[in-house]
Amino acid sequence: MIFRHSNHGAHEKQGSDKRRKALMLSALTACALVFSLLCVFSSYSICYAVSYGGQVVGQVSSRAELTAAIEEADSLAGEILGEEHYISQCLSVTATVGTVPESAEELAGKLIESVDSIVNRCCVYVDGSMVGAIADDGELQDILDAIAARYTTDSTVSVGIRENVTYEYALINAELESDPEELAWLLDPNNGESQYRLTVVSRESSASVASVPHGTVVTYDPEGYSDEVEHVSDGQDGLMVCSYSVELENGQVVGRHLTGTQVTVEPQPEEITVGALPGSRTDSRGFYIWPTTGLITSEFGGRETDVGSADHSGLDIGNTIGTDVWAADGGDVIYAGDTHAGYGLLVKVLHDNGQVTCYAHLSRILVSVGDRVAQGDVIARMGDTGDVTGPHLHFEIRPDGENPVDPMRYMTGWPEFDR
Ligand SMILES: [Zn+2]
Repeated sequence: MIFRHSNHGAHEKQGSDKRRKALMLSALTACALVFSLLCVFSSYSICYAVSYGGQVVGQVSSRAELTAAIEEADSLAGEILGEEHYISQCLSVTATVGTVPESAEELAGKLIESVDSIVNRCCVYVDGSMVGAIADDGELQDILDAIAARYTTDSTVSVGIRENVTYEYALINAELESDPEELAWLLDPNNGESQYRLTVVSRESSASVASVPHGTVVTYDPEGYSDEVEHVSDGQDGLMVCSYSVELENGQVVGRHLTGTQVTVEPQPEEITVGALPGSRTDSRGFYIWPTTGLITSEFGGRETDVGSADHSGLDIGNTIGTDVWAADGGDVIYAGDTHAGYGLLVKVLHDNGQVTCYAHLSRILVSVGDRVAQGDVIARMGDTGDVTGPHLHFEIRPDGENPVDPMRYMTGWPEFDR
């Protein structure tokens, strides 16, 4: 470029000189020859033309510049090719009336470029170490693009190379030029034998569906006990889409982090009702309710009678067969069966304070030994089994679990009876 520019300038200069010459000849004929010669020698000085391999490479205007150009070219060729005086051995120099002398530096550059075994190539470096030299950086870009493409999928967000890959054009020994395929193999991330193998760092987006746990909505029942849980409706888990950013090295996942979630199906909470009262419905309350409805037909204690004990161990409450019999308080059923004796069908309940209540002459028993019953639970039906004169409930309270006392000590009011 510099050379062409100089040449162009020289053509202008030539034209200018010719016009000047014509002007001079027409105006001063006598001095024409002298002037012309002066002009010629001032513009077309003697040059040293340098040929390399039979081809003229360039020219400089002085011996000093010639020597400098050859020394520089020789030195550079020596560095590149490892041979001293490589260029000077093949040069020929002729003196000529040249057109345009060049600088020593320009000539040195031309000399170097005319050596067949020295080429200007794209030298490729990985983290500062030279890997090879190829014709141009476009080939390098093709290699890098092909490597990146191998690790690019539909979900790839970004892809890059961890190592610092650079290039620089330089004059090199032509023998050192690499085959692009060889360079590609040296840079190949899968080439475990290459110290220059590249690491492809890519980022992908991924998504997966996860369930959203359903919660539980609790409603408290002011009349229920804490151990009473009523299931109102099933819950249903929801769904959400979780988005991830995945980091990969040569296609292997090395990191993953959540970038966002989106609920696509809202969870439906489970609904339950829980009693607000402490304890359990079957806990003993510590007082007794009347165990049935009816009239008190016989009180506790001494009496005159044709059947049964003269010393009455309980209270008799008369009503019709089949009338409900309730547990007077909560507790464990410790007897439920036929006594085959005066009591007939009998139920006994042990309360939490150790007291026992007895329910006799039943027509039907609705509980079993081991059942836990609550105050007011229907445990049996009134009957006339055992030694009776008519249907009634014989009700006893045994504070120590064994010996009955007058139930009226514990009862308040009278049993209900709808006449
Ligand atoms: Zn009785």
